[in-house]
Amino acid sequence: MKDIKKLSKLLIKNNIPYNIDILEQYQIDEDDIHTGVFCPKCQTLSMVWKRGSWLCNSCNITSKDAHLTALKDYSLLIGSTITNHQIRRFLHISSDTTAKKLLKSMKFPYSGVNKAREYYFPKP
Ligand SMILES: [Zn+2]
Repeated sequence: MKDIKKLSKLLIKNNIPYNIDILEQYQIDEDDIHTGVFCPKCQTLSMVWKRGSWLCNSCNITSKDAHLTALKDYSLLIGSTITNHQIRRFLHISSDTTAKKLLKSMKFPYSGVNKAREYYFPKP
C-alpha cells in the first residue's frame, strides 16, 4: 500500500503535458498550414462568417460554433495564445469587431490592451 501511494505521488508529480512545437518538430512553415474553418458536415474549408453564424459555401449548412474546432487546431499547431489579428487571419474573418465578439464569447483569460491583447487557450 505504501509503495502504491509513493508511486501515485510520483506519477502525479511527473505528469507534464506533452507540449512540443509540432511545426518545428516536423519542419513545417506556419504559412503552409491551411487556414479557415472546416465544415462539420462536408469537411471542406468552406465556412464563411455571415450574420452571426458560419455558413458552408459548399453544402450550405450553418453552424454557430464551427470556429471552436479551428481554434483547437490553432492551439495545438501554433501556440497557446491568440490575438485579434491572428484569429482573423486564421478563421478568415475580415472584421475585428466580429473577431472580438468571438473571442469574448469563448471567455478565455487575456492580458494586454487593444492590439496587444492576447487570449489564452484553456489548458488541455
Ligand atoms: Zn459543408
